[in-house]
Amino acid sequence: MTDTMSSKNDMLASTQTVIEDALRKLGYDEQMVELLKEPMRLLTVRIPVRMDNGKTRVFVGYRAQHNDAVGPTKGGVRFHPDVNENEVKALSIWMSLKCGIADLPFGGGKGGIICDPRQMSFRELERLSRGYVRAISQLVGPTKDIPAPDVMTNSQIMAWMLDEYSRIREFDSPGFITGKPIVLGGSLGRETATARGVAIMIDEALRVKGIQLNNATVVIQGFGNAGSFLAKFMNDAGAKVIGISDVNGALYNKEGLDIDSLLDRRDSFGTVTNLFRETITNEELLQLECDVLVPAAIENQITVDNAEKIRAKIIVEAANGPTTMEATRIVTSRGILLVPDVLASAGGVIVSYFEWVQNNQGYYWSESDVVSRLQQMMIRGFNQVHDLHLARKVDMRLAAYMVGVRKIAEASRYRGWV
Ligand code: GLU
Repeated sequence: MTDTMSSKNDMLASTQTVIEDALRKLGYDEQMVELLKEPMRLLTVRIPVRMDNGKTRVFVGYRAQHNDAVGPTKGGVRFHPDVNENEVKALSIWMSLKCGIADLPFGGGKGGIICDPRQMSFRELERLSRGYVRAISQLVGPTKDIPAPDVMTNSQIMAWMLDEYSRIREFDSPGFITGKPIVLGGSLGRETATARGVAIMIDEALRVKGIQLNNATVVIQGFGNAGSFLAKFMNDAGAKVIGISDVNGALYNKEGLDIDSLLDRRDSFGTVTNLFRETITNEELLQLECDVLVPAAIENQITVDNAEKIRAKIIVEAANGPTTMEATRIVTSRGILLVPDVLASAGGVIVSYFEWVQNNQGYYWSESDVVSRLQQMMIRGFNQVHDLHLARKVDMRLAAYMVGVRKIAEASRYRGWV
């Protein structure tokens, strides 16, 4: 087994442990744990794609649906070489938690395809996206399971998926997928939603710690959709972004980086550090002294190996699963306030929900409506999790799981499933 595979198995196993803890603390028994520790449905598909060289390559994809007691399942589709079954399962459970914390009428879902979009042409990506939808079309739909963008997928990919779905179903169903281009029924504010949600969580965490945003120092790991927009929001709000990174390395300037010029120079996968000679490593970036550290890249970045060396006052998880459970215990015991992924990164799915509502209504909202509703939901989520963390003396992650799981557990019980 490769390292990445075993860390993804750990991810699922540790998610299941926290789900169990959360359900027990809420007074549920073994049967509810059995129901919620795995997705109810997992589809594996093989997708033949005609490559530009004329040869067929077969890609493997997944779609997991965790629980639909509350409503249709919802969650992104990632394109990444390290996608595997256990990762998709864990991610679908996390989507249930995000939807639960935000009180959306959805359960969690997640999809993924094992591929490397950086090595594929535009047309190959189109054929892969369409092939995936053909393969999963029986299981998804605006009232069943609604996909969205995730790691290395974007609004263009959503547009191809929507078009393929509309052809299969012979009618136009914009609510089948979210994160679409605006002209195809996308929502204003969706592209920046995850970053905006993270920025709102940073405000709340700073307030708890009594630190002013103006002049607060921020370090962001990852310069993709979440990381890059977040750097812009932080910079515009007067905070000092002193470190950023991408897959190749990291940049540091204690006076603050020139974010606008970095944004101009980044490519569509969020790479920019290769243009600079003076770089630091990703590991050094995570250990910089700062007020707020935002892991906005991939899983398993803060682990037992570096948790003692983190010098941030606050960690806000914009990525899914960047801090392992062991590391959560270490940073929490060191007095670092951790805003967990299932809360901090819920902005994306919240605005996806708004997009789906607008598609169902056929009535489109202004960006300021979207932003103010997002703000209300994120702050309500933060307060619920933070209050429970204080009241029950549990860490912020367990508190978030407790808030996130109670609605689907309740709904499953009412339906008589347990
Ligand atoms: N992929 C995003 C997430 O992990 C958004 C999912 C969605 O909008 O449905 O939260």
